[in-house]
Amino acid sequence: EWVYLNGEFKPYDEACLSVEDRGFLFADGIYEVIYVHRGRAFRMEDHLARLQRSAAAVRLELPRPAADLEAAAGALTARNGLEAEEATVYLELTRGSAPRQHAFPAQPRPTLLMIARKAHRPEPEKLERGVSVITVPDERWHWCHVKSVGLLPNVLAKQQAVESGAFEAVFVRDGRVTEGSSTNLFAVFDGVLWTHPADRWILGGVTRSVVLELAGRLEITVREEAVEASRLGRADELFLTGTTTTVLPVVRVDGRAVGSGEPGPLTRRLQEAYLQELEA
Ligand code: PMP
Repeated sequence: EWVYLNGEFKPYDEACLSVEDRGFLFADGIYEVIYVHRGRAFRMEDHLARLQRSAAAVRLELPRPAADLEAAAGALTARNGLEAEEATVYLELTRGSAPRQHAFPAQPRPTLLMIARKAHRPEPEKLERGVSVITVPDERWHWCHVKSVGLLPNVLAKQQAVESGAFEAVFVRDGRVTEGSSTNLFAVFDGVLWTHPADRWILGGVTRSVVLELAGRLEITVREEAVEASRLGRADELFLTGTTTTVLPVVRVDGRAVGSGEPGPLTRRLQEAYLQELEA
């Protein structure tokens, strides 16, 4: 297995980072996860645009042009023999290594890492029958739109979900549902599709925008508005979206059945449309 580190391809075991990398010391870094379907990166331009937005928000500069990153991601996938497979590329950019001090180093040398792996989509049974979620308080910072590697609240929330037998933890801030620990959430009420607006309280998912696009094509009415937590259990349908999660029905919230307790019709249509789009 090969990885890409600062412009070079290296065998996995030989790729080394400094013990004072600021990504490690301060979570001073950002990342992306890109889906590669049979050698073709899905919505790469959206991922690169978001990477650039995250970088600008935290005053990082991309060490090379976006087009180079795209080419490197493709080359890495090929080198790892994943061209005919479903793969993901994990890309991380940090403010690099320097003696530990909070303020930026005078001459930052960013670290750029890419790892390409076989993709782990949810099991077919989960995609077919749906999953359960729990709700947890959203204790993250106020810049959730930045894809920061500072994911401790997300990690703790997800662990809580796993320990209670649920697939995902859904955050609630000020009485409203924001998103999942690594997914966006959609709800259906009376045939209308609701999801939180892409503001600073969520990470605007690439999958989320594809689903909104597909909803438009399927003439489904959309409301980009937060759902009140007290109404979540009364939704007719719920589903999660994410790069590796794809479109995943949710059939239980905090132990209570959603709608009929089975994936709903709009969820199914969007799930199907999404998979077609991915494989197109
Ligand atoms: N929200 C959060 C907090 C996430 O970490 C992710 C996955 N990176 C998403 C939403 C979904 O984003 P995407 O569809 O771009 O994978």
